[in-house]
Amino acid sequence: MATSPVQDTSPSTMQRLPSPYRPEAAVVADRLQSLHEALDWAAAAAAAGPWVQAVRRHPPPFWAMESLLKEYPISSAEGLALMRLAEALLRVPDAETAVALTADQLSRADFEGAADGALARLSQSAISLSKRFLPAEGAQGEGGVFARLGARTVVAATLRAVQLLGRQFVLGQTIADAMREAAAARRRQPQLRFSYDMLGEGARTAADAERYFVHYEEAISAIAAAGDPGRPVQHNDGISIKLSALHPRYEAFQHGRVMQELVPRVAALCRRAAAANINLTIDAEEVDRLELSLDVFEALAAQVAREHPRWHGFGLALQAYQTRAQELIGHVAQVARRHGIRLMCRLVKGAYWDAEIKRAQELGLPHYPVFTHKHHTDVSYLACARALLQAQDVIFPQFATHNAGTIAAIVQMARGMDAKFELQRLHGMGEGVYREVLQDDPTLACRVYAPVGRHRDLLAYLVRRLLENGANSSFVHQLADESIGMDELLRSPLHLAPQSALPLPPALYRPA
Ligand code: FAD
Repeated sequence: MATSPVQDTSPSTMQRLPSPYRPEAAVVADRLQSLHEALDWAAAAAAAGPWVQAVRRHPPPFWAMESLLKEYPISSAEGLALMRLAEALLRVPDAETAVALTADQLSRADFEGAADGALARLSQSAISLSKRFLPAEGAQGEGGVFARLGARTVVAATLRAVQLLGRQFVLGQTIADAMREAAAARRRQPQLRFSYDMLGEGARTAADAERYFVHYEEAISAIAAAGDPGRPVQHNDGISIKLSALHPRYEAFQHGRVMQELVPRVAALCRRAAAANINLTIDAEEVDRLELSLDVFEALAAQVAREHPRWHGFGLALQAYQTRAQELIGHVAQVARRHGIRLMCRLVKGAYWDAEIKRAQELGLPHYPVFTHKHHTDVSYLACARALLQAQDVIFPQFATHNAGTIAAIVQMARGMDAKFELQRLHGMGEGVYREVLQDDPTLACRVYAPVGRHRDLLAYLVRRLLENGANSSFVHQLADESIGMDELLRSPLHLAPQSALPLPPALYRPA
């Protein structure tokens, strides 16, 4: 086996961050303290109000995901059917199972039931069409052949519907297609930059990991060819990578292997990104992988310092919903200072909330690793934003959110500190809000996270977006719901809920 220059620092010897499992209220009280007098929420809400009103005057089309989720909330039978189909249908290999799955899911839902304007239009769409042609339950014998022919048509139509839903979130099926779309979008909105994401989650095999690696390499070459290495890195398009896509055993128990095999791989991608002077960001994944990600990140930071000290495009995403998010920012800034490099840090709220809660409950952990009140995550996001803005000497902050109140608060704090930064949104989300924000202030820049890939690789990504936007507390969801007034939509998050919103995991197992 080839030797590697990477040192295997055992995770057990590292104590860089506090435990993620600690009482929520104490952490939030501390974050509120750090925001005291640093933010005027009333002024932020006043700035965001006109954006929200403008978006509501020009709502998204009926087929947009926000509209669909308003029509079929995730909590309804129809929403669940949509979600399960989106999650599973595209990867069912054989027709029989696809027919059975579609029949099962569509028979639980009533897509035509509550027909109002949007629904009536949607009922012409594939899903309700599908349902009409479904074989009746238990249809056998005489009608069987027709039923089966019908069933295949149904599956084809339903597949089409799921693909349409997915298309909203994918910029292009190939990097070349995606870059063409990006160029067209930039002609309409010159403040846009893009960070391409090659679709795919956790590699299962070495061949998967190799395939993703090649995709990333090709994408970087394409982005490099269209970029300008002489420009400041934040003006060029960039790439986002998932460590779990680049190694089949990206887990703490495989620490040695990950350091030996994954670090050189990512270093090779960094080399290309540095030569092209583009931003390469490591996406944030599950809480229990954070320590491992930090080991990889620190090994790479040392390598970047040695090989590309003038490249300022190396970066990582940080999740504000984690109870230790602010300490993480302090640590990352410290790593950058230690190595004398500059980083780009994308602050997100966190996309795996449901999964993190479920995992903590299953394992009976003492506390949740993420906040349980939505407004606590918002508080943490703002406190982390401030911490990033205070680390301007080594960090270029990138604020990824679709929440108008959060955006206005960030802009206010950044302006107050005379700081450079960029905003970010996901392709297919937050277009309305950002149309208004960028129109209001043409000096602001927004980077679009743009998934690239075939629709059958979209599933995990699509389900995350559906879950996120289906939640009642989601800003995008509330924005689409006219019954929610401006006061509620832009209410200040800056207050403490003393109790966890959920029973602590051990309480679920008592007294038995
Ligand atoms: P909001 O509606 O204001 O916030 C929703 C978020 O609040 C949820 O996503 C969740 O984090 C949190 N939340 C919801 N319910 C609760 C609750 N009951 N208690 C506590 N908190 C709650 N996510 C990643 O994990 N890794 C990434 O690498 C990543 N990259 C991204 C890149 C870009 C450009 C963008 C825009 C987002 C990215 N995300 C990533 C997704 C991000 O974490 C959020 O899920 C998403 O942006 C929604 O947050 P918001 O501020 O737009 O909306």
